[in-house]
Amino acid sequence: MKKDYIATIGLEIHAELKTASKMFCTCKNDPDEEKPNANICPICMGHPGTLPVLNKEAIKHVLKIGHAVNGTIADFTEWDRKNYFYPDIPKGYQISQYKYPLVSGGNLAGVDLTRIHLEEDTAQSTHDIHEKSLVNFNRSGVPLMELVTEPVIHDAETAVKFAKELQLLLRYIGAGKANLEKGEMRVEANISVASPEDTTAKKFGTKTEVKNLNSFKAVEKAIAFEITRQIDAYEKGEKVVQETRGWDENSGTTYSQRLKESSHDYRYFPEPDIPKLKISEVEEFNKEHLTKETPELPWIKRERFTKDYGMTEKEVAVFVEQPETGKYFEEVVGGDAKNAKIAKLATNYILTDYLGLLKKEGKGIEMIAVKNFSKLMKMIEEGKLSSRGAKDTLALMTKEDGDPEIIADKNGLIQKSDEGEIKKIVEEIISKNASVVEDYKNGKEVALQFLVGQGMKATKGSANPELLKKII
Ligand code: ADP
Ligand code: MG
Ligand code: ZN
Repeated sequence: MKKDYIATIGLEIHAELKTASKMFCTCKNDPDEEKPNANICPICMGHPGTLPVLNKEAIKHVLKIGHAVNGTIADFTEWDRKNYFYPDIPKGYQISQYKYPLVSGGNLAGVDLTRIHLEEDTAQSTHDIHEKSLVNFNRSGVPLMELVTEPVIHDAETAVKFAKELQLLLRYIGAGKANLEKGEMRVEANISVASPEDTTAKKFGTKTEVKNLNSFKAVEKAIAFEITRQIDAYEKGEKVVQETRGWDENSGTTYSQRLKESSHDYRYFPEPDIPKLKISEVEEFNKEHLTKETPELPWIKRERFTKDYGMTEKEVAVFVEQPETGKYFEEVVGGDAKNAKIAKLATNYILTDYLGLLKKEGKGIEMIAVKNFSKLMKMIEEGKLSSRGAKDTLALMTKEDGDPEIIADKNGLIQKSDEGEIKKIVEEIISKNASVVEDYKNGKEVALQFLVGQGMKATKGSANPELLKKII
C-alpha cells in the first residue's frame, strides 16, 4: 500500500524585461527581432576589455515588482560574476546578483518569495543546422529578472496559479510581455516528495528541477508527472537523484538531463566593472516615485470589481486578465459605478456578446465607441429595447457603429410599449389561433407562452413581452 506523501514545490522564474536598450549596453532590446545578430555590440558579445553600464529602467521594473509583493528592497546592492563555460556566454561568465539581490522576501498569490534579482540573458543557440550549432546574440544582455520562491507550494495547480499571477503583474507594470511560449518568461519547477511528518519538520525529500516548461499546461503536467514518478520510485525502494530534468511535451514525461552542479561551482565574485549601488541615493528609485508610476495592481482590481460591481469570480477574471476589456467596461458604466443594473447589463453584454463579436470581426475593443455602447445599455435598462432587440442592435452596430437609438429605430427594433398598437396585433393573433386560445381557457398554461411567441414574431421581437402577455 502506498504511504502518504506530501509534495513540495519551489519555483525559479526568469522573465525578460521590457526596456529600450539592453542591460549593460545601448543595443536595442527587441525580442521580436527576427534577423539573427542584428542588435549586438562588443559589450553584449562579451568581448574582452569592454565596459558594461547599468540600465536604470530594468532596475526600476524589479523595484516596482518588489514593492508590489511587499518585499524588502535592498539598499546596498552589487552585481556578481557567475562563471561557467558555454557557447551562448562567450565571456565565460554571466553578470548576475548573488549575495545582494534587489529584493528579498515578499509574497505573491499566497506564496512566500525568497528573492528577486536582476541578471543578463544569454545568447540563443540553435543546434543541428546542417550539422552545426548557431548562436544568435540578439538576446544576449537582455535584462532578465529572476524570482525564486520558498519551497512552500504543494500542488501543481497552485504553482500554475502563482506563475499566472506573476505574468499578470509583469504585464500590468509594463515590465515585460512574459509569454511562456516565446521564452519571455521561463518557469523552472523544483519538486520533491516526503512523508507528512518530514515535511512538517521542514525535512524535504531530494528535489529534482524541471526545465523547458513553455506553457502553463506544461508546468502543470510536468509537476504532476514528477510527483507521481518520485512517489513510484520511493515505493519501489529506489532513490530519487538530485538532477535537472527536461519536459518532453510529446510523451508527457520528464527525462534526466544532467546532474545538478552545486552553486560554488560557479565561483561567484563581485563584478569589478560595475559600481556598487545604493538604492536610496538614486531619486528615481525612491518608493514614492515608483508607486506613482505603478498602476492599480491585479489583485486590488480583482477585489474592487468584486465589491463595486457584484461580479462573479469568473467575470472578474476576464476583466482583470484583459485590462483593456476591464477599462472599456468601466468607461461604459461611466460614473455610474453604483448603478448595479447598468453594471450587470454591461458585464453580460460585454462578456457574452461583445467579446465574441470582436473575435468574429477581428477587431479591437474600440469597435463600438464607448458612448454608443453605454447608450445601448441605458436603452435596455429603460425598456426601450428587449434583450432580443438589443442583441440585434448590437450586431448592427458591429457593422456600422453609431447611435443605437437611431440604428434600432431605423430597423424597427425599438420595443413597442404602445398599448393600442399591441392590442391590434393581439386581436389578430387571437382570431388566427382559436384552438390555442381554447386550450388556454381549458387550463393549458403553455398555450399562453405560444401566443406571446406569436406576438413577438409578428413584431419582429420589438414588443415588450410583459405588456404583450398582459394584453393577451
Ligand atoms: P539550488 O541551490 O539547488 O538552486 P536553492 O536552495 O537555491 O537550490 O533552491 C532553488 C529552488 O528550489 C527554490 O525555489 C526552492 O524553493 C526550491 N527548493 C529547495 N529545496 C526544495 C525541495 N526539497 N523540494 C522542492 N523545492 C525545493
Ligand atoms: Mg537554482
Ligand atoms: Zn550590445
